[in-house]
Parts: sequence; structure tokens; C-alpha cells
Amino acid sequence: MHLSSAYDPQNIFAKILRGEMPCLKVYEDAVCLAFLDIFPQGPGHTLVIPKVAATNLLTLPADALGPYMVSVQKVAKAVQKAFEADGLTVFQFNGAAGGQTVFHLHFHIIPRQEGVGLKGHGQAGKASEEDLIAQQAAIIAAF
Ligand code: AMP
Repeated sequence: MHLSSAYDPQNIFAKILRGEMPCLKVYEDAVCLAFLDIFPQGPGHTLVIPKVAATNLLTLPADALGPYMVSVQKVAKAVQKAFEADGLTVFQFNGAAGGQTVFHLHFHIIPRQEGVGLKGHGQAGKASEEDLIAQQAAIIAAF
């Protein structure tokens, strides 16, 4: 998928936004939806997506960027609090060549503990439902 490719309304995050696919939601407001990554690179790996149909950071309308980033920060604070994290890794990929695999804009937020590494992007297995549900509850309680 090239950076300037048209938005595909059948991408998995578009389906999640429309309620056609389930997700482990941790937060929602007027501009974003946040849910757990089911192939987490670390416990608590959370994705924040804008509600507008934007393929990547370059195609999000500029006036939507500020409100979206406010929501990303809000989710990051809750994730940090829920995991009492020593640090947070926040990242975002654009285009297949940039490492993006789902072509609806999203920021990754991963809580980090001192001395604990991350699994590689695209190399993590599916987390257990039990772990994900416990993490979801902890993050929801941290808002
Ligand atoms: P990226 O490679 O930056 O486009 O990231 C896409 C992310 O979406 C990856 O970290 C995947 O593990 C994650 N992912 C894919 N399908 C789902 C899904 N159904 N629910 C939650 N996360 C997903």
C-alpha cells in the first residue's frame, strides 16, 4: 500500500469502527477509538485510531490532528497509570514501506518497565483472551 493509495473502507480498523468486527475497547470519544492490540508487542499494547477515514498521518485533515493527538495523550496517560509504567513507547507507521500493515491511521502505545524488552513489530503472537480482558479492565479503570 503506497502512501498516496486511496482509503480502503474494508480495512479491519474501519470494520471495528463500524461495529462489524469486535475489539477490546478501552476508550472512545468524539474523535477516537482506543482498543488493545491482540498481537501485543508487550502487555497493555494499545492502539488509538481517529474516527475519520484517514489512511495515514499524511492524509489526516490538519484540523483533525490536534483533537486526535489530545486523545492519544489521554489514552497514553491512562495506559501509563494502569501499568505503573516506568516508560511509554509510542509509535506510528506510514505506508507498507514504512512498516504499516493496517491502513487506517493509528498510534501504538506500549507501557514499558525498566529492563524489559519489546517483541518485534509483526512478530508477536496472539495474546490470551484472559490476559487481554484483565488489561482492558485495568486501563478502563485508569481514566
Ligand atoms: P501497523 O503495522 O502499524 O499497521 O499496526 C497494525 C497493528 O494492528 C498490529 O500491531 C497488529 O497486531 C494490530 N491488529 C491487527 N488486527 C487487529 C485486531 N483485529 N484487533 C486489534 N489489533 C489488531
